[in-house]
Amino acid sequence: MVLIRYEYDNETLKGDYDELTAFGARGKKVWNKEALVKYAEPQRPVHIVCCCRNDNQEVNMHIVEKPIGSHRYYLATNPKSSGKHSPDCPKHVLDDPFKKAKAVYTKSAVQFRLNSAGESVVDVSINPFAGGIREQNGEPIDTVSSDVEQTKPGRKIYEESDEMSASHSRRAKAEFGGLIREWYLIGREFALSNRKNGQTHINRRDIIHGMWREMLNDRVLANEQSIKNISFVPHKSITQHRDGDRKILVGLFEGVDTTAFGEMQINIRGINTIWSVSAPPELAKKIDSKTVNRLISVRAQWRNEDWRLTHKPFVVLLTDPDAMWVESEIEMRAYAVLSKTRFEVQKPLRIMEDLGGLRPDFVLIGLDRPVIVEVYGRVGDPDYDEHKELKQGLYDIYESEQRIYYLEWDLSEKDGMAAFLERLRELESKLD
Ligand SMILES: [Zn+2]
Repeated sequence: MVLIRYEYDNETLKGDYDELTAFGARGKKVWNKEALVKYAEPQRPVHIVCCCRNDNQEVNMHIVEKPIGSHRYYLATNPKSSGKHSPDCPKHVLDDPFKKAKAVYTKSAVQFRLNSAGESVVDVSINPFAGGIREQNGEPIDTVSSDVEQTKPGRKIYEESDEMSASHSRRAKAEFGGLIREWYLIGREFALSNRKNGQTHINRRDIIHGMWREMLNDRVLANEQSIKNISFVPHKSITQHRDGDRKILVGLFEGVDTTAFGEMQINIRGINTIWSVSAPPELAKKIDSKTVNRLISVRAQWRNEDWRLTHKPFVVLLTDPDAMWVESEIEMRAYAVLSKTRFEVQKPLRIMEDLGGLRPDFVLIGLDRPVIVEVYGRVGDPDYDEHKELKQGLYDIYESEQRIYYLEWDLSEKDGMAAFLERLRELESKLD
C-alpha cells in the first residue's frame, strides 16, 4: 500500500513508512535518521503527504529536526492539515508521544538548518537592542525587522504550508544570554566530537576552542548573520583593531585588575592569550574573584587602544565533568551527584517543545523513557513557587501517563535531599 508521496526535486516519489523507519535498540520502530536527513536537505525542500485516508484527502507533513535527544529527525503532521490520519495509519504508532503539548508554542527564537556541508547551523533571533547587536554591526535599525524568518525561504529545513506560516508567524526573541548559550552548545558539540585519543572528558579550554572554531565555520548566526562579524574569541593572531569597533568578546574569566586610575580591568582568556577590558564600575559590580573559571561574554568597544565595556558582562558557571553549563550552585551540586550514576546526564539548555515548552534542569537517559530532573533552590518567592507548582503538576501528569520518570530535589523540604537521593537510587536500580 502506498502511504507517502514525496515531491522532491520536481520528481514525485512514492513510498511507505518502512523506508523512513528502522528498528530501534529496544526492538521498537523509530524514525530512521539517515532516510529523513536525505529529505531535509535545505536546498531541495520536499513536500510530503500521507495518503492513508479513504476519502482521498491528503495529510500534509513535514520533517522536523529536534534540537535535543538521540533521534534528531522525525516526520510531523502539519498542525492545520486538511485531515487527520486514519486510525490504522503507521504514523499513529510512530507519533511523538508528547505532541499534545506542542500547539501552545509559536516559532522558537532558536532555529536550525543545514549548511551546504550538511552540518546543522543555529540561528538565534535576538532583539538587536537587548543584544547590542545593532551597535555591534553598526547597521541601521530596519535591517533587522520582525519578519526576519521570511528571508531566504529556500534554505529552510522544510517548507511550511500557508496555514502553518500564518499561525506561526511570530518568532520569539532570545536574550543576549540565549545567543551565548546556543554558541556554547555548538562549541561543546565540537569539543566532544573532537576529543583526542584517550581523552574522556573535555574541559573549559576545549569549550572555548570549540566556540572559536564553530564561530569561524559560520555555525552560529544572530538574526541570520554570521556572528563572526560581530564577535571575537581573543586570539593571539588578532593584534589590530579599528578605533570605534564594537564586538562581543567571549572567553574564560581570568580575574580582575585595578589600574592606577582606580578602574577595573576584566581579563578574558581566549586561545593562548588574555585580553583586558576596561570596566566602568557601574557595569562590573558583580564581577569579583569568585567569578574565576566561568565563561564570560562582554560587549565592548575599542577606543584609544583599549577595549571598554558597553553593557553588563554575562557570566556562567561551567562545572566538571565536561565543563557543563549550570545555572546555580545547587544545580552544580545536583550535577555532581547525577554524573556519578550510570545514567547519561543531559542538560537541556533549550526549551523542550515535547514537554510543553518546559526546560527541565537535567534529563537522565538510559531507561525506556527520560528521567526529568528538577532542582528547586529558591525558598520564599511566590512567583517561583507558582511556576514550581505548575511544573510539578505537568510532570505528575506526564509520569502517570508513563511518558517520563520524574525526580526532584526540593530545598524547601526538610528531607528534600534525602528524598532525591533515595528516588535516584531507585531509578538507577531499574537500569539493571
Ligand atoms: Zn497517515
